[in-house]
Amino acid sequence: MKLALVGIGKIAVDQHIPAIAASEEWMLGATVSRHGSVEGIDSYTDFDQLLAERSDIRVISLCLPPVPRFDYAKKALEAGCHVMLEKPPGATLAECHALAKLAEDNRLSLYATWHSREADKVAVAKAWLTDKALKSLKVTWKEDVRRWHPNQDWIWEPGGMGVFDPGINALSIVTEILPVDIHLREATLQVPQNRQTPIAADLAFYHPSGAQVSAVFDWRQEGEQTWTIEAETEQGTLTLLDGGARILIDGVEDALVSDNPLSGEYPRLYAKMAALIARGGIDMDLRPMVHVSDALALGRRVAVDPFYD
Ligand code: NAP
Repeated sequence: MKLALVGIGKIAVDQHIPAIAASEEWMLGATVSRHGSVEGIDSYTDFDQLLAERSDIRVISLCLPPVPRFDYAKKALEAGCHVMLEKPPGATLAECHALAKLAEDNRLSLYATWHSREADKVAVAKAWLTDKALKSLKVTWKEDVRRWHPNQDWIWEPGGMGVFDPGINALSIVTEILPVDIHLREATLQVPQNRQTPIAADLAFYHPSGAQVSAVFDWRQEGEQTWTIEAETEQGTLTLLDGGARILIDGVEDALVSDNPLSGEYPRLYAKMAALIARGGIDMDLRPMVHVSDALALGRRVAVDPFYD
């Protein structure tokens, strides 16, 4: 299947383009970007022009930041294309619901991707937790914003989500591996005085069994980076490390082995998109975004030091 990639920036270059190039199912037919392009591939700066001229392309993958994404997704769906959305699927929940309705009405596929769910050990963590009695779950997601988001102003603007941009990856894993739904109880958001979005957040969740579920996100961590989820159960402790790439059960590594033949988060996302189109339908799990929206609605804001790149 031929697709067009829209928004040739960091994640398109780092992950989407190599994953498409390595795939037997996908072919990059064109790109749309005001500044970026891919050597040897037709490039457009105007999305309307692509939609008007390229009836051979029926799939659009959007790698833009969340705020501009809705307008592109809407146009693509109205033009009869299937759409794949980078995470988070939009800037607001209402616009995500609107896209899902549009896709449904037009019998098109729409995929809200969560790349962290495709990390190697997430599926085995989910299987292990299915029959365990959870006592507590703690997320620690601490990274250096200057290292991972150099010169990206949109993350600090309304809709950019701040530290929830990586934090939503952790929440996408948590909502995938827990067998029951949780919801936010309280949050504290640390917002730099000169910015619109948080640089750090503490979250506490309600879990139906009374288990303690919490998360700490911080964008000010220099040196070693931490992307860990620790779940303590009556039957032992599961630790996901490195964003889901490694798993420990009671401190022992590799007790659980992934049986997914594809390796890499983005190759798995593109394989899932191909399967979704083949069977028809929508894959739009908005639970990670619900938690972020709730944190932004309910969170107590604390002003902290200004942030400069
Ligand atoms: P980025 O490099 O800052 O932006 C991607 C591209 O989007 C830009 O190169 C720009 O291309 C286009 N763009 C930016 N603002 C736009 C606007 N207002 N209107 C139209 N086009 C615009 O961002 P990114 O890091 O790739 O992130 C994009 C999405 O991927 C985000 O939702 C992010 O959460 C997700 N993601 C990022 C990473 C990562 O490591 N960075 C990892 C996983 C997921 P042109 O200027 O050429 O049009």
